[in-house]
Amino acid sequence: MSEKACRECHIISYGNVCPSCKASSLSDDFTGLLIIFDPKGSAIARTMKVKEKGRYALRVR
Ligand SMILES: [Zn+2]
Repeated sequence: MSEKACRECHIISYGNVCPSCKASSLSDDFTGLLIIFDPKGSAIARTMKVKEKGRYALRVR
């Protein structure tokens, strides 16, 4: 199974629907990996509007 990143919120998952925002526009063409453990304490998470901990792609095409 290949990993896919959500075009809406950038979270990385294996399914066909985003587990976070339920969008179905996922792409397997992404670059960069960002792991967020503490969304509230992370400036990067705030910049990316990440609200849940998880693995995120920096760029999704
Ligand atoms: Zn999403």
